[in-house]
Amino acid sequence: MHDNQTLYDIAVIGGGINGAGIAADAAGRGLSVFLCEKDDLASHTSSASSKLIHGGLRYLEHKEFRLVREALAEREVLLAKAPHIIRPMRFIMPHQPHLRPAWLIRTGLFFYDHLGKREKLAGSNHVIFRPEDSPLKDEIIRGFEYSDCAVDDARLVVLNAMQARELSAQVVTRTRCLSARREAGIWLIELENAQGAYQIQAKALVNAAGPWVAQFIQQALQLKAPYGIRLIQGSHLIVPKLYEGDKAYIMQNDDQRIVFAIPYLSRYTLIGTTDKEYLGDPDQVEITQEEVMYLLDVCNDHFKTQLTAADILSTFSGVRPLCDDESDNPAAVTRDYTLALSRQPEGEAPLLSVFGGKLTTYRKLAEAALAHLQAFFPEMAKPWTAKSLLPGAENWTSVEDLAAQAMQKVSGVPQALAERWAHAYGARLWSFLNQASSVHELGFNFGHGLYAQEVDYLVEYEWAVSSEDILKRRTKLYLQFTDPEIQVLDEYLVGLHERRLQKDVA
Ligand SMILES: Cc1cc2nc3c(=O)[nH]c(=O)nc-3n(C[C@H](O)[C@H](O)[C@H](O)COP(=O)(O)OP(=O)(O)OC[C@H]3O[C@@H](n4cnc5c(N)ncnc54)[C@H](O)[C@@H]3O)c2cc1C
Repeated sequence: MHDNQTLYDIAVIGGGINGAGIAADAAGRGLSVFLCEKDDLASHTSSASSKLIHGGLRYLEHKEFRLVREALAEREVLLAKAPHIIRPMRFIMPHQPHLRPAWLIRTGLFFYDHLGKREKLAGSNHVIFRPEDSPLKDEIIRGFEYSDCAVDDARLVVLNAMQARELSAQVVTRTRCLSARREAGIWLIELENAQGAYQIQAKALVNAAGPWVAQFIQQALQLKAPYGIRLIQGSHLIVPKLYEGDKAYIMQNDDQRIVFAIPYLSRYTLIGTTDKEYLGDPDQVEITQEEVMYLLDVCNDHFKTQLTAADILSTFSGVRPLCDDESDNPAAVTRDYTLALSRQPEGEAPLLSVFGGKLTTYRKLAEAALAHLQAFFPEMAKPWTAKSLLPGAENWTSVEDLAAQAMQKVSGVPQALAERWAHAYGARLWSFLNQASSVHELGFNFGHGLYAQEVDYLVEYEWAVSSEDILKRRTKLYLQFTDPEIQVLDEYLVGLHERRLQKDVA
């Protein structure tokens, strides 16, 4: 369907967390919004993160007080907005006196406890490790503990896109913005998807293309980028659960960097990340052997269990699109965001470009973006996202309770599966469970508890197209699926898309 007559208030380029967050916020303020993503939602940086909603303890060392204060306060705001995909997590920092003195860490944690509003998350404390029950090496005997949160990063993006759509935004994936030009006070925007090229119009253009932000300005808009962008690669390893318990570890390395070991999907540990200048195509970023060795070494310096490359189940890499502050050290480049508004030539349709940012601060970034656009849309409603729930967060008290309700309604559902659904979908799990009273009514089981009803729901309501969208970003089941199982899912999806196309034509 090509709606080249439609004039939107705002067209957003990029379906990562920043684009999806801005689209949802703008749609909720009564603006008509269009968002296009060239691939799948969250298929780039926004699914390659450490999956933390955090203040960023180490940014205090780089004096990023504004960012840390905002990020600390956002932890509880986001926790309340999406408690199914965000959960509090305790972080243990083993003390390494030769790296950072205890007084420095205590001071940092004091600021961390008090800089941002905190009601639900527990404060920091000192810990003593006992060799008999600590997974850390025996010589590590003391440390510190503090709170942050873990998030399903890709689902945070999808939930924002769903919220935008529920507020009447048009969200399209696998649609690239080829170019855009200003004419008579509006933007004429050229798009391309598998069916061909088409055009839309918008009064304002928001460039949330992440790692492509500067390239988009130069190549698609034929304009000069107001800031440089530094692409800083970060990679993670996924290994079988390295230790028992639900706490994360934050390990200090002697290059002054830190590396996390984070409990992941109940059976794995996520280890990351690195900071490495990246000069290639953001679509092609891959972990290097040097990064693998670096992450294994840091882990092996801390934990009793010694890892080798053979323990690695999977890896992923992404590039942080950071605003270039000309820092020599990739780890020290500012993690804060910068928004650039341009109306050149004077009086022309506005272009707002997003440089940098964190998952944690996406909501505040979206508010700041709309504050920049306020002058062009004076009728726009006030900020509203701080107290609103993301899709699925409605009408339940705890994930355990929701999972129990699902097990009661649909007989034969194992607890682990009900909990996966409750965490991923919150109350939206009823969208695909409502008609079923037994697990046998959920359709074909593709393996590992992925039933046809869930797949159909993801295709219908969450823009899923391929098995990768479903397994990597919507459900994270990719770590369990075998190649033959993926092939069966692929074949099912081909049939499903054909049936949907025929229905559209009819
Ligand atoms: C290793 C690593 C770890 C991180 N860990 C954390 C963390 O734990 N917590 C945290 O808060 N933050 C973390 N971050 C930062 C966070 O992930 C990023 O700041 C955030 O995801 C950036 O989102 P984005 O929307 O700007 O970019 P992206 O997610 O990359 O989205 C931009 C999108 O624009 C699309 N696009 C580009 N050009 C076009 C076009 N012409 N037409 C249509 N679409 C287009 C792309 O396909 C892409 O999907 C981490 C980042 C990295 C790399």
